[in-house]
Amino acid sequence: MNSRFLTRRHFLQGAAGTGVAALMPHVCAALASSTNGSMPTSLDLKKNRSPLAPSAFYLLPLGQVKPKGWLRMQLQTQADGLTGHLQDIWPDVGPNSGWLGGTGESWERGPYYLDGLLPLAFLLEDSQLKAKALRFIEWTLTHQSPDGMIGPQSNKDWWPRMVMVKVLAQYYDATEDPRVVPVLTKYFHYQLESLSHRPLESWGKFRWQDEVLVIEWLFNRTGDPKLLDLARLLQQQGFNWSANFSNFQFTERCSRESIGLKKGSPPSEKAMATHGVNNAQALKAGPVSYLLSGRSTDANAILQQLKMLDEYHGLPNGMFSADEHLAGRNPSQGIELCAVVEQMFSLEQSLAILGFAELGDHLEKIAYNALPAALTDDMRAHQYNQEPNQVECSLHHTPWTTDGPESNLFGLEPNFGCCTANYHQGWPKFAASLWMASADGGLVAAAYGPSEVHITLGDTNVHVVEETDYPFRGKINITVNPAQSISFPLRLRIPSWATGATIKVNGDLQESPSPGSFTRLDRNWQAGDKVEVEFPMHVRTVSGYKGSVSLERGPLVFSLPVKQDWLKLRDRGFTADWQVYPASAWNYALICKEGNVADLRVNESALSDRPFAEEGAPVTLQVSARKLVEWREDDGASEPPPQSPVKTAEPVETIQLIPYAAAKLRITSFPNSTT
Ligand SMILES: [Zn+2]
Repeated sequence: MNSRFLTRRHFLQGAAGTGVAALMPHVCAALASSTNGSMPTSLDLKKNRSPLAPSAFYLLPLGQVKPKGWLRMQLQTQADGLTGHLQDIWPDVGPNSGWLGGTGESWERGPYYLDGLLPLAFLLEDSQLKAKALRFIEWTLTHQSPDGMIGPQSNKDWWPRMVMVKVLAQYYDATEDPRVVPVLTKYFHYQLESLSHRPLESWGKFRWQDEVLVIEWLFNRTGDPKLLDLARLLQQQGFNWSANFSNFQFTERCSRESIGLKKGSPPSEKAMATHGVNNAQALKAGPVSYLLSGRSTDANAILQQLKMLDEYHGLPNGMFSADEHLAGRNPSQGIELCAVVEQMFSLEQSLAILGFAELGDHLEKIAYNALPAALTDDMRAHQYNQEPNQVECSLHHTPWTTDGPESNLFGLEPNFGCCTANYHQGWPKFAASLWMASADGGLVAAAYGPSEVHITLGDTNVHVVEETDYPFRGKINITVNPAQSISFPLRLRIPSWATGATIKVNGDLQESPSPGSFTRLDRNWQAGDKVEVEFPMHVRTVSGYKGSVSLERGPLVFSLPVKQDWLKLRDRGFTADWQVYPASAWNYALICKEGNVADLRVNESALSDRPFAEEGAPVTLQVSARKLVEWREDDGASEPPPQSPVKTAEPVETIQLIPYAAAKLRITSFPNSTT
């Protein structure tokens, strides 16, 4: 009997509900037969109910995929950091929260926090964290208004409820608490009646797709046709992201003037359409519309969105720039932490719906670079904006389109507290998305990291263990342990960069897999079968803004770490707000010959408990470079890299690059010199 089912039994026997599943809006591995707490005999995938289009893959309930190795330690660091202590030190999610019946913050911050706290608590099976999350759930379920409205009465905005319904769906997937479906159904009926006289506006109008995801999830459970009426009405009242990107107008760095931002007035439609977090959430607009329509144009809309964002605003850390609004390709522009975690969630959901392998590449690049970069090693402080070329974190305005001077400080709530509440979902939802189920009864390695999965295929319990130091190494060992022999397809995502990847099954070399696709192993699996995957970790030179280059190896991006002086701005007890000043030169040009960096050496060392910490980075690159004296700092930001190729007569030096996330001050996009 595996631990997930033990967890569930404890819930069913105890007074306090526990257990949770990942948010799988359109699909869910419900433990439907287990109303008496017995172990389920089959994975009852809630496939999409007609007329919804079928999905390629299905996310698994949280707890079926478990992090191991360094990934588990990362989640434990998160629990020991701000996530486990936020309620005690930050009133916005404290005991006076409106989402606990108090008179405090009554908008998005309670639901945001729960959206990460809940999955973290259940991945770690941490009873204290679970208790903290369930107080909010309990209040929400027991305080629905007679008309159907949920949440604090003092705030009627549709938007924070779009987050809370996501949380309730996760909670239901684990516990099957019988109160959840009626509460959600009543709320959605109420909203369907209300939208004619109180239509979507502001944030909700631009983030409608997140609610449609949950409506589709509920439709698969109840078949209530009114739910599809509501989904279509939200889509109709919401911003048309597909049209926005098929004729994309926002190709330049935004300014207050260009997007019509005026002090004291609500944000203009242009301001909302260029807002970073809105764009990150909008990536799922096409996929959720595809489920409603079945049209390939809706399915492919996400590819057009990613293409436009990358072409005009792409950054070398896998994100696009938006600080607070789309900001062009200069690597001194920033991206908000909320956009990082929301883009990850959009990619996880979209990968499940569509099965496009490249979405997994995007997801890993953000998860293994941009996410840990914005958090201190102990995960007690974060940045609002991070920059790929980040040479100082201090009180300045210079690079930002509209954000305030604290935007790249590390702290409790730099610039604005949304990220303080929202970033908690990043790591747990990523860990829960590593493995998925396929519609044909198989298992899918959607993204890679040390993990294990318990799944029931047909009537057979299957335990799969993935041992790896990925993304720092390219070797992945997968052991398949079915309770009895069973045939099923095992799909492995082959990243687009993994040219020359090899796969062995019990030592037998398989046909060469194609990069940028899922490869499929069909077999009658026996206990102890071993799949060895090897992704060649060649260093790649990627060109960027003004002919600059950045270096990648596997999903990792590399940066020059700049020595740092941390200066405390405010002490906050458990945490603090910090400025960070440079204490070494950063203005280097790499020496490139025929498109490749010169004198490259790769050094590997053992992983520590915190592999994204600067100290003891498990993989480093050594390259040749020359200083470029005319490349300077301007009011706390590096100037854009001068147009390459550059000329410099400074002496050749050997410099060491480390993983992007480990370097809290860094250069990632380098000018390059041919000599
Ligand atoms: Zn934020």
